[in-house]
Amino acid sequence: MKYYDNLIFELSRPGRKGYELPANDFGKDAFDNLPADLMRQEAAELPEVSELDVVRHYTNLSMKNFGVDTGFYPLGSCTMKYNPKINEEVAVIPEFTAIHPLQDEKSVQGALELYYNLQKALANIAGLYEFTLNPYAGAHGELTGLMIMRSYHIANGDTKRTKVIVPNSAHGTNPASAMVAGLEVVEVKSKPNGSIDVEDLKPLLDDTVAGIMMTNPNTLGMFETEIMEIAKLVHEAGGLLYYDGANLNPLLGKVRPGDMGFDIMHINLHKTFSTPHGGGGPGSGPVGVTERLAKFLPNPKVKKNEDGTFSIITSGDSLGSISTFLGNFGVMMKAYAYILTLGKENIRNVGPLATLNANYIKESLKDDYLLPIEGVCKHEFVFDGLKDKSTHVTTLNVAKRLLDYGFHAPTIYFPLLFHESMMIEPTETESLETLDEFIDVMHKVAKEARETPEKVIEAPLTTLVRKLDETGAAKNPVLTYRHLLKENEKEAAK
Ligand SMILES: *Cc1c(COP(=O)(O)O)cnc(C)c1O
Repeated sequence: MKYYDNLIFELSRPGRKGYELPANDFGKDAFDNLPADLMRQEAAELPEVSELDVVRHYTNLSMKNFGVDTGFYPLGSCTMKYNPKINEEVAVIPEFTAIHPLQDEKSVQGALELYYNLQKALANIAGLYEFTLNPYAGAHGELTGLMIMRSYHIANGDTKRTKVIVPNSAHGTNPASAMVAGLEVVEVKSKPNGSIDVEDLKPLLDDTVAGIMMTNPNTLGMFETEIMEIAKLVHEAGGLLYYDGANLNPLLGKVRPGDMGFDIMHINLHKTFSTPHGGGGPGSGPVGVTERLAKFLPNPKVKKNEDGTFSIITSGDSLGSISTFLGNFGVMMKAYAYILTLGKENIRNVGPLATLNANYIKESLKDDYLLPIEGVCKHEFVFDGLKDKSTHVTTLNVAKRLLDYGFHAPTIYFPLLFHESMMIEPTETESLETLDEFIDVMHKVAKEARETPEKVIEAPLTTLVRKLDETGAAKNPVLTYRHLLKENEKEAAK
């Protein structure tokens, strides 16, 4: 192990430093009046390192990671598209980053205008009336949307509408959000191609139905062709349609959820609108609604006044506040930059290109990988592992072997509809050359599985960390530095 591979605390040497704190501007007595229990009694335990130590340590660490900026990342359902660097430049403009949410409205007109314009752009893209940008993530958007659904029924005196229909192929957050919103989840069956079984849906539609949650294309990447019929049935029964638009990439610029009959939806800015994600945030899950539901949107809202200025308002019909102030503003700046960069003309190409790329990979690989559902997919599709099952090489093995070849693995073992699911989503930002390289490598791995299966089963062979003990990691997680030190001491004592 090289010196810089040590943990930052282990690089520490007494007296070494890379930074000097500025002189205390507040005077010697400035802290005398602080209560004793708020005062630090001992010096903070910080690593004592030089600037060069820190730069090498973190630069080396960053190179051990895999990201969209280092290679192809076909993780299905996650839309790991390239995030143009101009978005990052926009997001650090000090005129935006240095403002405070409690500042006078007149002094933050630019920020309010950005919020308003982005909200309008999303409404146009979605075919809905108005959006809130306040929710922090997709699941948070779902919760907000379902609270809107509930507020609507309660306002109509329809209090017994507490049932939310969720397809059994739905993203796990859908039933979870419904439960948190105090609604009851009822499952509707999917047909083998993942689309909703309309015959199974009909008997569920009674006067206790609050609504249905759907994604289209469904979890298998197939377009729900009976959506207009489903929308008619649900509306006739007095329910609302919720669209899980976390992943709007397949439809972007081509089809609008509002036109399909959806009343409420959320969008993940950190998937479709090119905000870097993974590792837990920051995210943003704007929620859009039709005109009759707009009054229930959360507080605060941004309104455009007659004279062209903007105000922050709260409304009495609103379901209340669901976030601090107006949400994750930095993420909104990136999404707005992305939308303006593409413009109305180019945004139309996103969905079709993502779809073309997915179908190109699917058709190129279906001789070696089992394709359970034939036909044109949208932005992603699912293989059920290798076609030749006699090799005993699993989806996990293939995923790990891909790392040896410099590709991130697809999503594996999701959806649960197949035993060996491998969900591939290339996105629109990849070149034909990259797609071809990936296809070549996937063929190569299939060939290895037939000829030298042990090589694939033992993979990854070239990564810093080899195959992990996943059960061990889950049962005995090492989460803190101190714990690791103790483990090291135990090791040394042996
Ligand atoms: C990612 C995703 C979600 C959840 O979004 P988070 O921001 O992770 O909460 C919900 N539904 C679908 C279909 C998704 O792909």
